[in-house]
Amino acid sequence: MTQAPTAALTHRQPQEDNTPIQTMPLNANGHSLPGASEVTVIQLEGHEPLVSGPSRCAICGIYPKLRVTDDSVEVQDPCPYPNGITTDITLIVPSGKLLVTDDLRPVYDWQDDAAADYNTALGQAQVVEAMAAIGCAYGPVRNSCPGLYRTGPDSYIIASPRCDEDDNPSLPEDTCLASICTDLWAYSIADFEHWKAQGGNPDELGWSDSVIDVAPGTYRFTHHTGEHGFDHYADETVIFAHIKRLT
Ligand SMILES: [Zn+2]
Repeated sequence: MTQAPTAALTHRQPQEDNTPIQTMPLNANGHSLPGASEVTVIQLEGHEPLVSGPSRCAICGIYPKLRVTDDSVEVQDPCPYPNGITTDITLIVPSGKLLVTDDLRPVYDWQDDAAADYNTALGQAQVVEAMAAIGCAYGPVRNSCPGLYRTGPDSYIIASPRCDEDDNPSLPEDTCLASICTDLWAYSIADFEHWKAQGGNPDELGWSDSVIDVAPGTYRFTHHTGEHGFDHYADETVIFAHIKRLT
């Protein structure tokens, strides 16, 4: 009565011993494939090689086609964004008042019309541009609760400082003009009067919404989180965006 399981066991054991499993370096060909510098390759006789992972590119969103060589695994097609994506937009601020918060929907809403998946740098860059086109400087920052800091007469950053061993922050606290509570993992910034003209109600603003004074003009926002290797949780000050008055 016990012969069947014994036979199954003796049949399975030699297969496992003979399965050629190798760990090989991965040539990502410019794609951002986090945690996939090496991959596991299983080569069974008469079958195409099986490669564990990697998942899709965090920048362009493609699932890589892989080619197994003698000593490595290569992604066949290069990433169209080998340096990642830096997104520049402009925001016109005629009132000299900026509304700074995380979420300005539904006054400004991109209607989910991005062509690429929002969970890729490409999809997020498209949303940044779509929001800018309707008057909102928007940028994804994950759950980082950053602040808007003045760095010069007409320049600012959106950043998360770090503290040293003595609890001294890496950015002077008196340069922080607004803290952004990221219930929505983003910042959203608009000209205060434009926001009101689009239906925004100042009576509905809360403790996490700030209105700050800046010089009237046109501001360029350079957003960095789509850049290759950007680390939201780095040990040093994390700068999500640079802001500069152009005119
Ligand atoms: Zn890519």
